[in-house]
Amino acid sequence: MELTPQNAQTVELSKSGDDVAIAIEHGGTRARIDFVDREGESIISAVEGRSVSEGFEIELPNYQRVGELGARPADLPQMTVNVLRDLLRPMIDEFGIRKLGYSIAGPVTEEGVVLKGAQLWGETVTGVRYRDLLEEELGLLGGVVLGNDMWAAAHDIMAHGGAWSPPFNVESFCVITVSSGVGSKVVLKGDIQLGVSGTGGEIGHMPILHPDEMIPGRICGCGGRYCLEAGSSGNANAYRTKAEAESPAVQATFAASAELIGRIRRIDLSPGPDLAECVRAINQAVIEGGKQNDSFALHVLDRTIRPIARAVAALEVQLNIENFYFVGGFALALGETFLRILRGHIIEMGIIGRTRQQLERIGRLYNEPEQKWGIRGVGMAAHRLVKTSVRGHHT
Ligand SMILES: [Zn+2]
Repeated sequence: MELTPQNAQTVELSKSGDDVAIAIEHGGTRARIDFVDREGESIISAVEGRSVSEGFEIELPNYQRVGELGARPADLPQMTVNVLRDLLRPMIDEFGIRKLGYSIAGPVTEEGVVLKGAQLWGETVTGVRYRDLLEEELGLLGGVVLGNDMWAAAHDIMAHGGAWSPPFNVESFCVITVSSGVGSKVVLKGDIQLGVSGTGGEIGHMPILHPDEMIPGRICGCGGRYCLEAGSSGNANAYRTKAEAESPAVQATFAASAELIGRIRRIDLSPGPDLAECVRAINQAVIEGGKQNDSFALHVLDRTIRPIARAVAALEVQLNIENFYFVGGFALALGETFLRILRGHIIEMGIIGRTRQQLERIGRLYNEPEQKWGIRGVGMAAHRLVKTSVRGHHT
């Protein structure tokens, strides 16, 4: 269901005031909003008199629609905030809401500056003081916390990972997503490490690919040739699979996988409207093959996951975090097979101070749907980080 200025007036919440955080997930392809309590549960009890189970979609201006909006890319951040103001200002007043958690597709500094949001606003829009803009227009001074999707995931793990069995260490860890891209955040003693300008802890852009792990004709979205993401994302895995399947030498080596290789060769990865679907189809075939120990699938997955193992080992040597948690469609779909391949490479590399037995257990899956941790994590960030005043409690 979509939240509009019309139905926003009919939204009923089961809690109010400091027990409510607005949670917004502003991704590259869509935006969602929810109202969550201190546990991260949605507290929308009704809209237009009907019950709603999981938040709303929201329509926000973006780069693709800049022409039809009659706007310049530079106007998009302010236009986005205006849409949110019209939607939310009445509810903020009615329910006495003081907190907003917001995740956005792009690097964000500690000061709430979006360094770039290319997917949302285009390449030319950089250095947006977005948190200040939100606080001002929504009337939530000091009440807005802003980060990216991995920042939200880190907050969700801090809030909910401790209840897992066995519990996650929620004090010091690295959370890594392997989905269409590779992203991560590092948490040390409860603090998310953003670095000096917001790009800290992003293993996706470690320049560590070996030549045989690079995929012909493909570079990272940031322009880097050796970035982990260029060789180890879900998208990279699909292109690697395709390139390998087309190689006569590979076809000869993996004759027993002829059926799988043939199926992949029939899927076209040239640009077009079906591209995302074709990427998904190839990955699905390789993931299924990997789970059934198909030798070609394991050969491809091995090359995709080996650089991730190298990044994990490098980070562990540097920071001694010990706990690495994986999210993201590609890693979760592979499941234990992903961890088995990852651990195999890490054991082969070795990490100072860690026994083989420890390395055999390194890495865990945070097997929560992204839908859930994405919005719940930003809500938890708001409840955790926004300092609410203690009016009436002066002693
Ligand atoms: Zn990069």
